[in-house]
Amino acid sequence: KEALLNIEDLYVHFKVYGGFLQVLNGVNFRVFSGEKVGLVGETGCGKTTTMKTVMRILPQPPGVIRGGRVFFRGQDVLKMREPEVEVLRRKHVSMIFQDPTASLNPVFTVGEQMLEVVRFSRGTNLDDSSHREMAIRALQEVALPDPERILASYPLQLSGGMRQRVCIAMALVSHKELLIADEPGTSLDVTIQDQILRLIHRLAEERNMAVILISHSLGVIREWTDRVYVMYAGCMIEEAGTRELFAEPLHPYTQALMKCVPKLTGTGVFEGIPGRIPDYFDPPSGCRFHPRCPQAFERCLKEKPPFYEVKDGHRVACFLFGGKSDA
Ligand code: SF4
Repeated sequence: KEALLNIEDLYVHFKVYGGFLQVLNGVNFRVFSGEKVGLVGETGCGKTTTMKTVMRILPQPPGVIRGGRVFFRGQDVLKMREPEVEVLRRKHVSMIFQDPTASLNPVFTVGEQMLEVVRFSRGTNLDDSSHREMAIRALQEVALPDPERILASYPLQLSGGMRQRVCIAMALVSHKELLIADEPGTSLDVTIQDQILRLIHRLAEERNMAVILISHSLGVIREWTDRVYVMYAGCMIEEAGTRELFAEPLHPYTQALMKCVPKLTGTGVFEGIPGRIPDYFDPPSGCRFHPRCPQAFERCLKEKPPFYEVKDGHRVACFLFGGKSDA
């Protein structure tokens, strides 16, 4: 079966004074229709950069795509011309951010912005009142009270939670196939964050919409996804069904992450494992995790580990699972 989104061996660098930061180091990632997939890793590991590249909103420069391909429904996103990218963003894929203010234009009312989205995605053969009806229905679906008032408001007149819901409503009004939610609601309080995640989950189920949930919280990933990718320092290092990953994490980094989850508080936010995320300017050779890995051996310093399929759908980029003997 063809993936809805397929990222193949993506390399992204950032140009900085004196050289390049090697931020993405061969990322592979796939999402199928209607699937809820988690992307987890420490802050700064490249989760957002990966998805910004997919949306073609990575600033270039300083970003430079050094290699790899991104397919949406078989079409190469990185080769699309601007009008095609516009269609992709308006009709097929939405991305919502931790800070919802970033995706809304402060100088237009919510109504003006939503109606533009509806017009673009549903065509101009419907009249304005039908467009308005659709916008109102989408706002009702995300449980926003008084949709007329919301349409007349400017984004900054709404609370953070309401703005986040407006962004989701905009994704819904155009019947997107994929929603990329980058730490949704993390900037809001925990109860509102939970409501937002619940809402995304419900709508995804009802509409068979695929969701990529980016989070640094294992608790969030565990609760809301079917499958997970773990990222470390610009590399995908493990991929498995959510239940399988939590029952049996294989990569030494994933294992360390799981140990860091404060069990008593149950927040699922990890505080960090010994050592530091590597310097992207001069990253470690071979497996980027080797300076922090208690099980590193010689080969790990020399070569980048490929993915080894350990069980059906459980893959891990670590020499302990296939590359030990031929070192
Ligand atoms: Fe550790 Fe080597 Fe596996 Fe990397 S490849 S995680 S350094 S054992």
